[in-house]
Amino acid sequence: MNGPVDAPPLSVLDHFPADLLDLDATELHARLGGPTLIRINADTEAEREREGVFVSALIHGNETSGWDAIRRLFASRSMPEYRPVILFLGNLRAAEAGVRTLSDQSDFNRIWTNRDEPLVEAVLDEIANDQFTASVDLHNNTGKNPPFAVVTDTEPGTLDLAAQFDRRMVLVESPASVLTRVFTDCPAIAVELGPVGDPACVDRAEALLAELLFDPPTGPKTVHPNTIYRAIARIFVAPGTHFTIGHIGDPTDADVHFTGHVEERNFHELDAGFVLANTTRPIREVIRVEASDGEDVTDRFLVQEGDAIKLRDRVIPAMSTTDIRGVELDCFCYLMETIDVD
Ligand SMILES: [Zn+2]
Repeated sequence: MNGPVDAPPLSVLDHFPADLLDLDATELHARLGGPTLIRINADTEAEREREGVFVSALIHGNETSGWDAIRRLFASRSMPEYRPVILFLGNLRAAEAGVRTLSDQSDFNRIWTNRDEPLVEAVLDEIANDQFTASVDLHNNTGKNPPFAVVTDTEPGTLDLAAQFDRRMVLVESPASVLTRVFTDCPAIAVELGPVGDPACVDRAEALLAELLFDPPTGPKTVHPNTIYRAIARIFVAPGTHFTIGHIGDPTDADVHFTGHVEERNFHELDAGFVLANTTRPIREVIRVEASDGEDVTDRFLVQEGDAIKLRDRVIPAMSTTDIRGVELDCFCYLMETIDVD
């Protein structure tokens, strides 16, 4: 999993090349050669005197709605003028292949605490002297999820920024190596636009970017809600475990059969006793539940009764998917609670 990301680690452009507007996400690697940071309004007074907005897309190569929104927005409204924008186009090699991450790469949203990673070093060096009012990282979900914002803190500025996208927001405190965490001096969010391939995702991203990049800075327009979700744990399948999810996957030699109904219940409470999966193996050999701090909390959330793995208490799942590869690369789902915020 861990390997060198593309070399050279980063290209930096001082303007947005107009021909990019014609390029699909799969075509960017051939044009740009790898991860690229594009400064928009780099030469203007705005760049020197105003704080900018950092926008990232294609951190996961197959999550293309953000890029499609940028193309459509810049094609229809020309380039932003009010403020500098730094656009970071991430894993273009994976985008070319139409996958989240290639097998010889690190996950581009799990590297940002590692200064030994050349890409991380190059990006952090490049933006070291920039001031930002906001940072937005554009993603799609693998599974069926409603749109929501991901926040890594509950500062009012962060929550207000998140509310500009959607009132549904999730506090995710782990892992610490996500791109959003780089931005400690400004509100920073990731947005989960919805499923890959859903055209509504492009509309959502375009609406958010139009507000952030084109509207004159007037301070927050949206007040955040008082209740948000907090991710408290993730469910992982042990490496090497064969598993099915509902009717998806090869049942031959499968160790674990997930019931497949969790994806339909993303952001809806599941009751205690809900059967998550069936297995003849001891739960500890095949499934692990990990808290935000890395602690093994399998027994706190799950109980094995015969072949059934059940929820001990009611909990709210999110980001569950029926994509086998997606589960192997990340996790089966997040478990959440609701918390009150000021
Ligand atoms: Zn993503």
